[in-house]
Amino acid sequence: MYRTPKDFMEYVKANNPGQPEFHQAVDEVITSVWPVIENNPKYQSANILERIVEPERSIIFKVTWANDKGEVNVNRGYRIQMNSAIGPYKGGLRFHPSVNLGVLKFLAFEQVFKNSLTTLPLGGAKGGSDFDPKGKSEGEIMRFCHNFMLELSRHIGPNTDVPAGDIGVGAREVGYMFGIYKKLQNQFTGVLTGKGLNWGGSLIRPEATGYGVTYFAQEMLKTRNEDFNGKTVTISGSGNVAQYAVQKVTELGGKVVTLSDSDGTIYDSEGIDCAKLTYVMDLKNKRRGRIKEYTNEYKNAEYLEGKRPWGIECQVALPCATQNELSGEDAKTLISNGCYCVSEGANMPTEPEGVQVFLKNEVLYGQGKAANAGGVATSGLEMTQNSMRLSWTRQEVDTRLHEIMRSIHQTCVRYGKEGQYVNYVKGANIGGFVKVADAMIEQGVV
Ligand code: NDP
Repeated sequence: MYRTPKDFMEYVKANNPGQPEFHQAVDEVITSVWPVIENNPKYQSANILERIVEPERSIIFKVTWANDKGEVNVNRGYRIQMNSAIGPYKGGLRFHPSVNLGVLKFLAFEQVFKNSLTTLPLGGAKGGSDFDPKGKSEGEIMRFCHNFMLELSRHIGPNTDVPAGDIGVGAREVGYMFGIYKKLQNQFTGVLTGKGLNWGGSLIRPEATGYGVTYFAQEMLKTRNEDFNGKTVTISGSGNVAQYAVQKVTELGGKVVTLSDSDGTIYDSEGIDCAKLTYVMDLKNKRRGRIKEYTNEYKNAEYLEGKRPWGIECQVALPCATQNELSGEDAKTLISNGCYCVSEGANMPTEPEGVQVFLKNEVLYGQGKAANAGGVATSGLEMTQNSMRLSWTRQEVDTRLHEIMRSIHQTCVRYGKEGQYVNYVKGANIGGFVKVADAMIEQGVV
């Protein structure tokens, strides 16, 4: 048994050098679950800590593809199968130049606890490539996806590992990967989620993460007898999660005033209503443009070049872009501008200093593992529908999603209550951990 979380982190750092995001993710979980380990000798004697931070399998492969000029390119593909104690591996694929082994290990590690929180039988995994989809033609995207799946297909399957989308991987990419998988295996199975509605996809899956993060914020607000009505909300990102968070917040009576991408933020003090959201969806999903173009269409809006949304006044903030996009200073600025509720659509968007600021100031702080679990939960519902070979209605899936988000909130309250305050970080980490650790023990040393 390690004496302190710090001792254990030294082991993790020595064993996984040069992977700061992975260290950050492990540190946070270990700090939360440490008292549980200390009070339960069974976790110590089974050496659960060392076992749970080691991926069951890490697959790294070469992806070669030709661009439109016939030039041959090489990228690196990955699949990290982290833990299958409670179900087949499940987690998204990310195509972004920042992808590397450490980033995917952090995401796969988080996924294990997130999937456990959903109440569904899903193990944890993550994968992707350092391929940059920006500026690529349709043909280039398709060829890359095909060549990526040529190798990945050997390692996944509907009862083994079921990938989905993430940054840079949406319905288009899932379609290309599904097409080649089907051809290679000669089987039409639910091997990916986020599929098109006509070929096995679930209603509400595209909306699920954005809706879920909003439902989670709604549950947190309820603990203070509040709701979204009349609240000003800042959102970062302008991709899948951000778009549907705008839609749900607006439907619940909130006013979303920002969206962003990696170049900058747009600030629309009049609010991004449904008509403006339709414009954003067309801009980002069809024309693949930059968020800056919003200000050409809506002249009242400002473009803040190179800035994130956290300097804008709001009561609720929803970080929905990427990891480490909200610093300790940003957290202080948000609080001094009146923000008291933060629900994370992205994975690990808040730096550790920011997390401490939120907790110290008793902000309603819903960490990504809990708050953005609606996406994978609805992927789980897609898998169920595929197995049963039927499709549920929009209403049915949305009701189940809403129930799952409520149940995750309850789990966080159960494990995270500290007097009057709910520490959702602690609640999510312990709630997710216990189920996986117990399953590992019950399955013996494997
Ligand atoms: P998309 O690719 O649809 O959108 C990503 C958005 O984030 C884009 O606006 C992108 O801008 C921005 N972004 C990416 N990298 C950076 C960066 N380094 N700095 C600033 N902005 C950046 O991805 P999703 O919406 O699917 O995912 C967003 C987040 O939500 C990720 O953290 C993901 O892991 C998490 N998540 C997603 C789920 C899902 O179901 N899709 C489920 C659970 C979590 P740009 O175009 O400039 O790159």
